[in-house]
Amino acid sequence: MAPSLEEPEQVEDVISHPLKAKPQLVAPEPEHCPGPESQQAGLGDACAGCPNQAVCASAPKGPDPDIPAISARLAGVKHKILVLSGKGGVGKSSMTSLLAHSFATNPDNTIGIMDADICGPSIPKMMGVESETIHVSGAGYSPVWVLDNLGVMSIQFMLPSRDDAIIWRGPKKNWLIKQFLKDVEWGDLDFLLIDTPPGTSDEHLSVNAMLKESHIDGAVMVTTPQEVSLLDVRREIDFCRKAGIKVLGLVENMSGFVCPKCTHESQIFQATTGGGKALAEEMDIPFLGAVPLDPRIGMACDYGESFFDSFPDSPACKALKVVVQRLADQLGLDAKDVVPSD
Ligand code: SF4
Repeated sequence: MAPSLEEPEQVEDVISHPLKAKPQLVAPEPEHCPGPESQQAGLGDACAGCPNQAVCASAPKGPDPDIPAISARLAGVKHKILVLSGKGGVGKSSMTSLLAHSFATNPDNTIGIMDADICGPSIPKMMGVESETIHVSGAGYSPVWVLDNLGVMSIQFMLPSRDDAIIWRGPKKNWLIKQFLKDVEWGDLDFLLIDTPPGTSDEHLSVNAMLKESHIDGAVMVTTPQEVSLLDVRREIDFCRKAGIKVLGLVENMSGFVCPKCTHESQIFQATTGGGKALAEEMDIPFLGAVPLDPRIGMACDYGESFFDSFPDSPACKALKVVVQRLADQLGLDAKDVVPSD
């Protein structure tokens, strides 16, 4: 194994306490230190006489005090769903927007998308609200409403320019995600889709920790058929299991290409190891379906339009309906109540 520059933290400890900020120590930790971020910091036998004792003893401990406020704010949200991918470029954000538009075809549903991909927010562009800015009311931040029943919140709305780079480290990302969860006035929602960055990073740990009390229904994983993408999905599934997040299922995106003119199907990304379906079986998680590549999905996302409304009879749209039906099953809902059948 390659040498590491620092001792890795215990995975379970990071997952259960991701929000602890390490106190600013004035001297190195002595031998037998219980850990400056632990409950015993500043209080243990080894702390007696340690130059850091005052700093460690006064550092905040225990769960984040804002978690009850987040739970109260999201009390009107029936289902909270994370959308995850192990690797970038597999169409995770476009899948989030497609799922949201498909849920929104039922006027009885109200849907929110929280764009938690802080360093690469793409949901506003895909939803056609890129030039919007944030609205603040006495009750908090108001989502930008794309449709009467579909609202979006993204850091993009807070930036002066869409080309500004966002170079934020862990604590600031945690703070922003907390603001999103605590201060956005979502009201009553049937579904809140949380679009996260690829991989397993600060954003995932923060969302998981802050929503633990208000309950996440689970995660939808997005992959492409190649093994290089599936490899990272295995890690993502492992993360969910360690973090106690239910895996609602796996969607294989860009699964073949159906020519819109002649309907001939060809495989652009070869599933050399069996693709998403085989992985779902291997990892014992539900397979939600395979959505073929369709260049019109990319165009719809670029123009901020609903592919679901524009091409309802396309093979990709039909495949998406299957995904939504299976997802409804996993949520314990009747598919007919989620999306009207044809
Ligand atoms: S005060 Fe205790 S917890 Fe803090 S550095 Fe010293 S030994 Fe470690």
